[in-house]
Amino acid sequence: MGLKVYIDGTLYENDQAKVSVFDHGLLYGDGVFEGIRAYGGRIFQLDAHLERLYDSAKAIALKIPLSPEKLKEAIRNTLDTNGLKDAYIRVVVTRGVGTLGLDPNKCSGSSLIIITDSITLYPDELYEKGLEIVTVATIRIHPAALSPRIKSLNYLNNILAKIEAINAGCLEALMLNANGLVAECTGDNIFIVRKGVIFTPPETAGILKGITRGVVMGLAREEGIEVREENLTRYDLYTADECFLTGTAAEIIPVVRIDRRQIGPGTPGPITSRLRKLFNELTEKEE
Ligand code: PMP
Repeated sequence: MGLKVYIDGTLYENDQAKVSVFDHGLLYGDGVFEGIRAYGGRIFQLDAHLERLYDSAKAIALKIPLSPEKLKEAIRNTLDTNGLKDAYIRVVVTRGVGTLGLDPNKCSGSSLIIITDSITLYPDELYEKGLEIVTVATIRIHPAALSPRIKSLNYLNNILAKIEAINAGCLEALMLNANGLVAECTGDNIFIVRKGVIFTPPETAGILKGITRGVVMGLAREEGIEVREENLTRYDLYTADECFLTGTAAEIIPVVRIDRRQIGPGTPGPITSRLRKLFNELTEKEE
């Protein structure tokens, strides 16, 4: 028996968990989602993830069929049913079944899906050695077209960038915004360290406001390390002492090469390593 998947109040066997071909989530990428982690049975930063989910839904005028409290219960229940302690939780809200036209008002009502599974984004050794990334030609979508703050089901912008990275022999892509400023990677936020100060692009650079990004900024400040949200160019990245990415799935991963250039000494830096240790300690205790 595989893991069970929650769809609109019912838990289905993995291979029976299906949605309609007329769901606008499938037809148009019309919907929103969250990726959440559980460590030792504790769901990490659940309130922050749910706040972002409800905000994403509100931004696209999508009603989530459950209250945040009921959704929390459904997530908890799905995890427990599957007997999972360390897991990746994918919460998906689709526009629901509609006609072959864009009008969301013709959809019968949103659908809520909860998948619980494991995830490995990067091989273990890269956390020790560091990752290589490459700037791609695909720019991050302009916030005036579709705000990257919305964690929507339409990830084509990021997928096109990911394809470019893979074609260039890298696992992750650095995406710039329409102004040529550093935005983020396809599934992670980016940070650099320069002379003991941490820098990361501001929300206005057109990025997803990562939950891990926020946690890491908090941890650094508690350590007395200055953190600045500032616009960055590739010059700032190339001349940085350290670079790392943050994300729910990736956690904190050092970056040691960008566009085939070595960053700092080419090995994970001390502030990155310190933050990784603090982050691991936090996931081991925080509810
Ligand atoms: N940017 C993008 C485009 C992402 O998809 C993600 C992963 N959700 C992130 C950044 C990192 O966000 P978080 O720390 O909330 O997982």
